[in-house]
Amino acid sequence: MGMILLGPAGNVEGDILTSLKKIKVLNLDAQEIEFVHSVMMGNELAKKAGALAKELNIRLSVHAPYYINLLSEDKNILDASKERILKSCERAHYLGAKYVIFHTGFYGKLTEEVAYSRVKIQISELMNEIKKNNWNVHLCPETMGKKSQFGSLDELIKLVKETGCKLCVDFAHLLARDQKIDYKEVFEKLKVLKLKELTCHFSGIEFTAKGERRHLLLDKKHTKELLSEAKKQSYDMIIICEAPNTWEGSLEMKKEI
Ligand SMILES: [Zn+2]
Repeated sequence: MGMILLGPAGNVEGDILTSLKKIKVLNLDAQEIEFVHSVMMGNELAKKAGALAKELNIRLSVHAPYYINLLSEDKNILDASKERILKSCERAHYLGAKYVIFHTGFYGKLTEEVAYSRVKIQISELMNEIKKNNWNVHLCPETMGKKSQFGSLDELIKLVKETGCKLCVDFAHLLARDQKIDYKEVFEKLKVLKLKELTCHFSGIEFTAKGERRHLLLDKKHTKELLSEAKKQSYDMIIICEAPNTWEGSLEMKKEI
């Protein structure tokens, strides 16, 4: 059986260094660093935070800024999106954070097939840049909660198989996107990837027919269902809590494992 590592999205208190110490006190295992609007952290602080996380045995991941659209028809937006992802990768490298998570983009007028082939090209280009720079990180496009957004579970599984990137499974987004979720089925589908480790997001979620509206506090029924299936998997899982009460949510999950 794999390990389940739990932790919050974003700092629980003060800056990253204060946050890591608090996470240790809370007896949690992970934190996702959120570059919400832009990559504000420099490489020096990244190194310092990475060293502290290592000392405290806390797993770090990075969430790239939200303003990313790898499917934009506007070259400036496309280039800026790639720049934001690469900047996040550089910081992640110095943080010792293996996974860089991002929202791929919007279909716009594109068919799903065309969108997929364009994303595939962009991911491959980004992976070449990562390799050139010797950054020890993996790109993780995230499963998305709105039907207008690229990132169904099937799309991402295909992308992982064909490019060698990784993925971030946001279970709440899958629920919002499809209006339902069968956790067992999700893990069945993931089997084809022969995962050694999986990075995930979880929260409660409000949704309409178009998908995600907003993140909510954890829902007891979904939390139980997810964790009972997660515990059966052979690989390690990092589950980042994106509910509004990030660290309390992580502690709630901890009670279930
Ligand atoms: Zn996200």
